[in-house]
Amino acid sequence: MPVLVFDLDDTLYPELSYVHGGFGAVAAFLSPLLAVPAAALAADMVAEEATHGRGQVFDTVLRRHGCWSKSLVTSCLRTYRQHQPELVLYPDAERCLTRFAARPLYLVTDGHKEVQARKVAALHLNARVRHAYLTNRYGRHRAKPDPHVFELICRRERVGPGEVIYVGDNPRKDFVGIKPRGFRTVRILRGNYAHLEADAAHEAHERIHSLDELTEELVANLLAV
Ligand SMILES: [Mg+2]
Repeated sequence: MPVLVFDLDDTLYPELSYVHGGFGAVAAFLSPLLAVPAAALAADMVAEEATHGRGQVFDTVLRRHGCWSKSLVTSCLRTYRQHQPELVLYPDAERCLTRFAARPLYLVTDGHKEVQARKVAALHLNARVRHAYLTNRYGRHRAKPDPHVFELICRRERVGPGEVIYVGDNPRKDFVGIKPRGFRTVRILRGNYAHLEADAAHEAHERIHSLDELTEELVANLLAV
């Protein structure tokens, strides 16, 4: 029986919703310290992220209010990572997990393991997949593109890589490590990488715009590649 494996961020839910939730938590934490309303701080962070990306958001906002210190940035980061996220699956992800509920389903996701575990819990995914592999639990060197946890899935399901399909959004790392081992790959075109043109090694076998396109027919075609 074919095994379906999904990436998490921007594949099953919009990662920006997690980011904005984290900004809300940090804004609530900073508000009394800076004597600025939390809503204004949060709006500032959202705007800063939209123009310059995530890397320096807390530094920039603290500097703007004349309150930058290394320890305060660290506290912001801790607050961000420890916040309890409220997340919702993309509607097509919800439908897809329901459609394939009788199949062996898995998650493979990189990133801070406690953060990723909180996302999985918030999305109630533990009940819907056989296991959520957080690569970080196996060491940083097991992050994608390393194929290690995908091989664990093969062992656990007693199947070869040709029966395992991975669906992800990031051509920089999601497919390049597992394709040479024979795993089947599907790229969903959304999130930050939707418009990235990938070379043949980094591109997936199939590209889709919505998980509604992941049909029994597409699954059968992928296994026949
Ligand atoms: Mg992703």
